[in-house]
Amino acid sequence: MSVRAFRAGRSAVGDPFVDSLFGMTEGEPSLFERMMSGEIPAEFVHHDERTIAIRDINPQAPVHVLVVPRKRYRNAAELAGDDPELLAELFRVAANIAESEGIAESGYRLLFNTNEDAGQTVFHVHLHVLGGRQLGALAQQV
Ligand code: AMP
Repeated sequence: MSVRAFRAGRSAVGDPFVDSLFGMTEGEPSLFERMMSGEIPAEFVHHDERTIAIRDINPQAPVHVLVVPRKRYRNAAELAGDDPELLAELFRVAANIAESEGIAESGYRLLFNTNEDAGQTVFHVHLHVLGGRQLGALAQQV
């Protein structure tokens, strides 16, 4: 369900309950910050000073890992504007994960969902690493 659809079932945009679920409230920790602090369990496949990577709880492919900067940016555009070197680091980490997961040769897809029409649900930027099967078309036809 999209954030928009989920919100539509709630009373108002800016519903604090929905915001807290998706980590959209300033000052509230995001889902990934809660994982980094240990508050929410996660399967870490990588961590260093600036980034973490976890397995997606709802994998869309045999390999589905999320690479996340420890510092929170809302989306890839904000990250690119503020810290392009950190953005590049996410891609380097993703390439290392593709190697360690055995999908570097067979192929993999890296993607950022940005805002609601792309289906972004967690507003702490994260790079999806998908592979381990034929991934098919990039986006569904409308
Ligand atoms: P996006 O829709 O691009 O914002 O991606 C958010 C991703 O986070 C989705 O692929 C979810 O399946 C994933 N996700 C949500 N909650 C968890 C969780 N507790 N552990 C791991 N992945 C999660």
